[in-house]
Amino acid sequence: MQRDGATTSLWQGTTTDFPATPQALPTEPVDVLIVGGGITGLTTAIELQRQGRSCLVAEAHSIGYGTTGGTTAHLNTFFDTTYDMVESDFGEDSARLLHTGARAALDLIKRNIAEFAIECEHNDRDGYVYAQTDTQEEELDKMFQASVNAGAEVEVTDSIPVPLPFRKAIVFRRQAQFHPTRYIAGLASAFVAGGGTILDNCRVSDFENEDVWLSVNTSQGVIRARFLIWATHIPPGINLLHFRNAPYRSYAVAATLSDDAYPEGLAYDMYDPYHYYRTQEVDGKRYLIAGGEDHKTGHVTNTDQCFTHLEAYLRNHFAIEDIAYRWSSQYFEPADGLPYIGHLPGNPKNVFVATGFSGNGMTYSHIAAVTLTELITRGESGYATLFAPARVKPVAGFMDFVKENADVVAQFVGKRLKTEKLRELAELAPGEGRVVKFEGTNVALYKNEQGKLFALNPVCTHAKCVVDWNGAEQSWDCPCHGARYSITGEVLTGPARANLEPIDLDEL
Ligand SMILES: Cc1cc2nc3c(=O)[nH]c(=O)nc-3n(C[C@H](O)[C@H](O)[C@H](O)COP(=O)(O)OP(=O)(O)OC[C@H]3O[C@@H](n4cnc5c(N)ncnc54)[C@H](O)[C@@H]3O)c2cc1C
Repeated sequence: MQRDGATTSLWQGTTTDFPATPQALPTEPVDVLIVGGGITGLTTAIELQRQGRSCLVAEAHSIGYGTTGGTTAHLNTFFDTTYDMVESDFGEDSARLLHTGARAALDLIKRNIAEFAIECEHNDRDGYVYAQTDTQEEELDKMFQASVNAGAEVEVTDSIPVPLPFRKAIVFRRQAQFHPTRYIAGLASAFVAGGGTILDNCRVSDFENEDVWLSVNTSQGVIRARFLIWATHIPPGINLLHFRNAPYRSYAVAATLSDDAYPEGLAYDMYDPYHYYRTQEVDGKRYLIAGGEDHKTGHVTNTDQCFTHLEAYLRNHFAIEDIAYRWSSQYFEPADGLPYIGHLPGNPKNVFVATGFSGNGMTYSHIAAVTLTELITRGESGYATLFAPARVKPVAGFMDFVKENADVVAQFVGKRLKTEKLRELAELAPGEGRVVKFEGTNVALYKNEQGKLFALNPVCTHAKCVVDWNGAEQSWDCPCHGARYSITGEVLTGPARANLEPIDLDEL
């Protein structure tokens, strides 16, 4: 299984049989073209297929390549945007509707697992949130009351499943966990068995609108569809939603413990960024999964340090025997705290999107699947207004958010540079990359393990920001809207459609 970075996630290391995908485009048009073979694309494909729609899933790389292959797969009915925030910014009814959607999402996961006999080590678990300071205790009280109001099964508790000091804790009942890529592999097989088509290595670029039909351009040719869904985590091209979502990275490890004291539940502290914990058994072997150290994409170059900090924190509290896997991945933080699910603003009415899931996309993907299926099959959904991508929500901090998101714009000139001069300029270690200033312009330079230099124009092809080096994942990441590129400039994930421009290096 491939993923969009150099590290290997637990899921990659222990997956999985994905169904074989055809090599050629179908000749018949389809009802719905779903772009993206992550949990959102595949869940939506299954829901639409249940409603009798013919669907095709087009994936630029292979199934699970995006954040679904790098998640930690806590299945929650509560969110990074807490119910008290939703209550105050969107109203009590919205908080209740959000909880209803979350509960239905976790039930839908169970239904899919049962109906398609998916072996993905799914278990119900309780989810604990604990406060460690005075201020956190006050926040926890608010979170608790609003969660009760929203309909959550939540209680105050005097114990937590992780060996950390705490002042107060609450427990959400009937949360869950699973092996995410085994789950989506099961969905993919069921979808194909039900007559659906999945195309790997099929990058969708754009489309022409022909009244009821869309003529969609892909790297494998043109596909005709009545509806198009961008289940790409963030849609490509430049859209309003790029200014309402900020890309972040989060870091995770899967460790074995020498004392066997694996936590029995899901646990979350209340720092910003917060730490999250759970246990996953895979083929009879147990792992402590823990994560945190989040930061805005492209704002930390020495990303190995994020793992170092996380591991040091864990070793202070757990008897870590071995860090079996360490990985990082990207998520999108929506400006007002709720995801954008529905019609994609500025596009024909038959083009849809699901994005802005924060660290809760396992649940939101299923809410999206239900919402989009209802919008396509019935023209309406009870969730449509709450998640409307075109909503304007002037919440506190929104302007700062937009400003923060508008990083540097730079111009670049010159397509051929002298290697010798660059070598003098940038003393890079093997495996290191850096953006260097060279004769007034920026150059993205990377040196491979053999000492060979690679140079790229560092101006992101999406919205012209300057990319930064991500050491742990060996990628060039854009701080503005989250486009990510390989060391040779190919698009990995994010909204960019074109690769970074290569610069020829003159060896003489
Ligand atoms: C470290 C980390 C831990 C997390 N933990 C949790 C958790 O515990 N619980 C939870 O609920 N959520 C969690 N999340 C969030 C969750 O993992 C994501 O929200 C979710 O996986 C997003 O799924 P997706 O299908 O929308 O996107 P992705 O999984 O990113 O899939 C999008 C796919 O679209 C493809 N694609 C992109 N552009 C194109 C194109 N133009 N043409 C064709 N294909 C394209 C990509 O290759 C990719 O495979 C976590 C996130 C991170 C970063």
